[in-house]
Amino acid sequence: MSIFQRVHSMGHEQVVFCHHAPSGLRAIIAVHSTALGPSLGGCRILPYTDEQAALTDVLRLSRGMSYKSAIAGLDLGGGKSVIIADPKDKSEAMLRAFGRHIEALSGRYIVAEDMNSTPMDMVNIAKETEHVAGLPPEYGGIGAPGPVTAHGVYMGLRASLKQAFGSDEPRGRRIAVQGLGSVGYNLCRELAEAGAELLVSDINEMRVQKACEEFGATAVSGDIVEVSADVLAPCAIGGVLSEADIPRMGSRVVAGGANNILVDDVADAEAFQRAGILIAPDYVLNAGGIIAMDVERRGGGFDQAMTLAENIYDTTGRILAEADAQGWTPLASARYLAEERMRDISQLRDMHL
Ligand code: NAD
Repeated sequence: MSIFQRVHSMGHEQVVFCHHAPSGLRAIIAVHSTALGPSLGGCRILPYTDEQAALTDVLRLSRGMSYKSAIAGLDLGGGKSVIIADPKDKSEAMLRAFGRHIEALSGRYIVAEDMNSTPMDMVNIAKETEHVAGLPPEYGGIGAPGPVTAHGVYMGLRASLKQAFGSDEPRGRRIAVQGLGSVGYNLCRELAEAGAELLVSDINEMRVQKACEEFGATAVSGDIVEVSADVLAPCAIGGVLSEADIPRMGSRVVAGGANNILVDDVADAEAFQRAGILIAPDYVLNAGGIIAMDVERRGGGFDQAMTLAENIYDTTGRILAEADAQGWTPLASARYLAEERMRDISQLRDMHL
């Protein structure tokens, strides 16, 4: 498939290839949709094996951002960028060269941090363009979004409990949390405060030990997917579940913060649905990060972002109820509601008032 065919089939508005030989910059910016507002999404820095892999990643991720912002009720579109480089080779010059390309888009794309890009990298980019979010607090930003994301996941998890068990009360529920980083650790804190029983795993032993000491969690030595729990909350990496895992699943509900928990979000989602396992859509639950970026852009603070992330409870509940009523998977329901909002709002532009 040609590049234009791919861009067309996924519905992107614009894809920009950015180049600056002296600094070694090779980057792609994908603007999927500006139907709801300027596209906002992180910049991933990776030594992709080839340009096709980078393009595939940025097209997929930017479309995901459109759905994430739309379903979170934000006036933002979906975009993402990738810099094709080994993260250790990034430099001020490379980041500023990238900032100049972003500036040339006149606000159609707003960059933020993502894998291997940091708040301080955003500071360098911001020397060349104002279209940047995710700055450190000392530069006017609201800081790391992890706690806000975790709070949103907590709210979405509670809505999922309500759908599956009739009560959103975490007290006494067994929750298995995979990954104890910025999101997983803060999620554990909220769940422990609410009286949940925690089972935890991380490839970093120190983080497991800390969660056990601070939250009275139990370390899971084997595969956390198999552990008997009410909810599995993947908060580490994507692609952790596929249809083949269904027979060994120990939880009836999956509600976590990792992006792209399912390997295939159509076929796998349907298989889990048939097996009676509720998969809460990850991009609905983990929208706290983008909510925080939006609040920062509008001059708000951390507390406001935390309050707005609570809306994820109602959003998740609405998606799960709609899925139930229509016989859809929750992922299909979320996508339908996101596309409906994007369509309805973009039609306002046809008004000639
Ligand atoms: P992080 O890097 O702070 O933490 C990830 C943790 O997962 C680390 O402790 C790591 O050791 C652990 N880990 C990695 N592989 C693992 C494995 N196979 N099994 C168990 N543990 C493993 O990352 P984070 O910011 O907490 O993000 C976690 C997930 O949430 C990612 O998928 C990220 O894309 C997603 N997410 C994060 C945010 C945010 O605001 N930070 C927003 C949206 C989505």
